[in-house]
Amino acid sequence: MALIVQKFGGSSVANAERVMNVARIVTDTYKAGNDVIVVVSAQGDTTDDLIAKALEINEKPSRREMDMLLCSGEQISIALLAMAIEKLGYPVVSLLGWQAGFNTNSTYGSARIKKIRTERLKNEVGNKKIVVVAGFQGICKYDDMTTLGRGGSDSSAVAIAAAMHADRCQIFTDVEGVYTADPRKVPNAQKLKEITYDEMLELATLGAQVLNNRSVEIAKKYNVELEVLSSLTRAEGTIVKEVTDMEKMYIRGVTKDTNVTRISVMKVPDVPGIAFKLFSKLASKNIVVDIILQSIGRDGTKDITFTVSKDNTDEAMTLLENYDLLKDSTISCDTNVAKISVVGAGMESHPGCAATMFEALYGVDVNIQMISTSEIKISVLIDLKDADRAVSAVHAAFFPEAD
Ligand code: ADP
Ligand code: ASP
Ligand code: MG
Repeated sequence: MALIVQKFGGSSVANAERVMNVARIVTDTYKAGNDVIVVVSAQGDTTDDLIAKALEINEKPSRREMDMLLCSGEQISIALLAMAIEKLGYPVVSLLGWQAGFNTNSTYGSARIKKIRTERLKNEVGNKKIVVVAGFQGICKYDDMTTLGRGGSDSSAVAIAAAMHADRCQIFTDVEGVYTADPRKVPNAQKLKEITYDEMLELATLGAQVLNNRSVEIAKKYNVELEVLSSLTRAEGTIVKEVTDMEKMYIRGVTKDTNVTRISVMKVPDVPGIAFKLFSKLASKNIVVDIILQSIGRDGTKDITFTVSKDNTDEAMTLLENYDLLKDSTISCDTNVAKISVVGAGMESHPGCAATMFEALYGVDVNIQMISTSEIKISVLIDLKDADRAVSAVHAAFFPEAD
C-alpha cells in the first residue's frame, strides 16, 4: 500500500462536473488500495475574482485582510470535493491549511512554510479517510491565516508529500505535462517525458506557470519526485526528478514572463559605490532586481537599467525618486516589456545557443532591449507586444522537428 498525494489546480475543479471528475480520480486511487491526501486550489478564476472584489472596496487593502479573503476560495473547493467523494460512498474529511498543520512565517501574501505538524493528517489517514486539504494557505505565529503566493497550492502538495514521506506526488492540471513552451500559445510545443529539478526550477521561475517555483525548490530539497499530468485525459505526464536518463536535449524549453518592469536611471555619477548604494536601497525593501545593464561612463556620468517584478514598480520608483544620490538623474520605467528565455542544462557545452536565439528574434524583426545569461539559461527583454511572436520564433529555431 502506498501513500499518494494528488494536487488539483483551479481549472480541474472549476465546476460541478469537474469536481465529480476529480472525485473519481481520487476514489479510483483509493480503491486500488492506496492512502490518498488531496490538495486543491480555488475553483477556476476565484482567486482573481476575489482580488478584484477587494480592490473595488480598497485599492490598498492590508495583506492580512487580503489573505483572510483569499483563503476562502480554497475553503469552498475542499468542502465541495469532500461532498463529491461522500456521494461516491467513500470516507473523507476536508481540512483547511491550519487544520492540516501548515505553520508559516507571517509574510502575508507570500508566506513560507516553516513546518507541517502532521499529527492530524496521520490520524485521518490512519482512520482510512481520504483527506482533502486546502492548498495555498497556512497559519502564522499570530494565529492568522496566511497565503503562500500565487500558484502556492503546488507548494502545499509537495510539502505534504515531503512531510508525510509519500510514495508519490501527482500534480494534476489542465495540460498533459511540462512542455517545451506553453502549449496554449505554441501549438507544436512538445511534452517532456522527464526534466531535472534544476531545469524545472528555471522554467518555473522564468514564467512557465505549470509548476510554482517554490514547489520545485521544496521537491529538490526533500527529493520528492513529481509527476505533472492532466486531470482531463489519462495520458502519461512529465516526471520531475534529480537526474534524468532521457536522451540529451540541450534546450528544454522557451518561456515568457510578463510580470516585468524595466527601470532606467540615466546620468548617475560615474564613481565607485553607486551600484552598491542604488541596489542596497532596493534590497532594503526586499525588492528583487533581475537583469542589470550598466553603460560605459561618459562625461562623469553613466546609465543603469534593471528589471523588477511589476508589483514592485511603484515602490521602487518612489524609493529612487526620493533618493538624494540620484537627485540629478532621470528615472523612468516601462511596464510594456516581457522577458523571453531559453532554458537547458546542455547549453553550456553547445556554442551558438545565444546566436540561434538572437537570429530567430532578428528573423521576426524583434528588437532586444537587454540580455542576461547563466550556465543554463539565456533571457532577453523585449517589447510586450512582440512577446508571443518571439516565443514561437525562438521555439521553432530550437525545435525545428516540431514544426
Ligand atoms: P493549475 O490551475 O492546475 O495550477 P496553472 O494555470 O497554474 O494550472 O498552470 C497550467 C498552465 O500553465 C497551462 O494551462 C499552460 O497554459 C501554462 N504553461 C506555461 N508554460 C508551460 C509549459 N512549459 N508547459 C506546460 N504548461 C505551461
Ligand atoms: N488559488 C491560488 C491562486 O490562484 C493558489 C493556486 O492556484 O495554486 O494563485
Ligand atoms: Mg497553478
